Amino acid sequence: TYSYPKSAELFGRATRVIPGGVYGHLGPAEGCYMPIQDYPLFTQRAEGAYFWDVDGNRFIDYMCAFGPNILGYNDPEVDAAAEKQQRLANCTQNPTPLLIDLAELMVDTVAMADWAFFAKNGGDTTAFAVMIARAATGRDKVVLTHGAYHGVAPWMQQLGSPGVVGSDVSNNLYMDFGDVARFERYVEQHKGEIACFLSTPYHHPVFDDNRTPPEGYWQRIREICTREGIVLAIDDVRAGFRLDVRGSDAYYGFQADLQCFCKALANGHNISAICGTDALKDAAASVMYTGSFWMSAVPMAAAIACITKMREIDAAEICLKTGTALTRGLRDVAKANDFDLSVSGEPSLWYMRTTAMDGVPDDNLLLHQAFVAECVRRGVFFTNHHNLFTNTAMTDDDITFTLEVADAAYKAVRARSRRILSPEI
Ligand code: PMP
Repeated sequence: TYSYPKSAELFGRATRVIPGGVYGHLGPAEGCYMPIQDYPLFTQRAEGAYFWDVDGNRFIDYMCAFGPNILGYNDPEVDAAAEKQQRLANCTQNPTPLLIDLAELMVDTVAMADWAFFAKNGGDTTAFAVMIARAATGRDKVVLTHGAYHGVAPWMQQLGSPGVVGSDVSNNLYMDFGDVARFERYVEQHKGEIACFLSTPYHHPVFDDNRTPPEGYWQRIREICTREGIVLAIDDVRAGFRLDVRGSDAYYGFQADLQCFCKALANGHNISAICGTDALKDAAASVMYTGSFWMSAVPMAAAIACITKMREIDAAEICLKTGTALTRGLRDVAKANDFDLSVSGEPSLWYMRTTAMDGVPDDNLLLHQAFVAECVRRGVFFTNHHNLFTNTAMTDDDITFTLEVADAAYKAVRARSRRILSPEI
């Protein structure tokens, strides 16, 4: 199995000059890569469904860079469009006409969209969604769901996190995903005070089983928001384009007022987008909101090529199909080895957890961590406590390889636990 001497050496260097070594969700502290000695920490190169680490180990990548890789790394059409634009202009005084081409394409592609606006990160767009809602309604409060992630602005984080103070989150009201009754109570308690309901289209927190919307949930929320003048904003940063290229609201049969996109939008080129309805266009225009690189043309060229290809090949359908075959296979492999594997969420960005061995439950995730570590050390890159992703470059052979690795990994976990229980073996 793999080892990571160069990664370890580089991480040592990194910790001397960078806070946390590798910070944020790509780092071992926040990235759900536990136990970290089982993971590579630095990449050398990537192609299609794979990446190679600095030690020369190859991985099939089920994190897809936390989502951006939807067509395969280095997709030739997307990268050719970006390279062509790079030779013309990227970051200049004025935007290029690609700004309009991309906005027109978004409006044509995303079902709810009458307009589009571009930034860099997902969090730029979720923050903008709330500002637009406040500008439009003149209200302060925002309803959010417990455990959802919308970015790194202080108001999006948990009270008690370092650097976050009470006033950052004092306008937030939290409910469980799916709890319409709680939402109704908030609406009554805070009549005329709620600007926005901001939520992911289905619940995909870390460290917890994912939850798809209960029957009729979004339709009820839509009705209440319309009745009460609350802006319904969907954070489709993670699920966007992996359920339906028209937006995840369309996938679940409702219409959002604002919808945020990022990760898969340009297959790894740095751009995010927010789409809105005509009713919110003036409010969006009224907010002072921009950034140094937000009009850069190269990522816009990449996004146009990526959306065009995602539509042509029905990328979401492919990702869902691959995810369905893969998760079915993984569950079967677990069962054949007398482990239980729970799979939740949508198959193109599923969440999984090994819940029992030989019928003995394990709720503390240690069994699952051990399984994931054994997979990673054999070239299948999973993480423990975050949802995983499929992309359109993954083949049937990749699934077969993954299932063989999963089988070997479960056998290794069993051997390991036997050794723990009976050290003489
Ligand atoms: N919303 C969701 C659902 C996300 O998954 C993320 C990123 N993990 C964000 C918002 C924030 O995006 P970014 O990190 O690009 O700011």
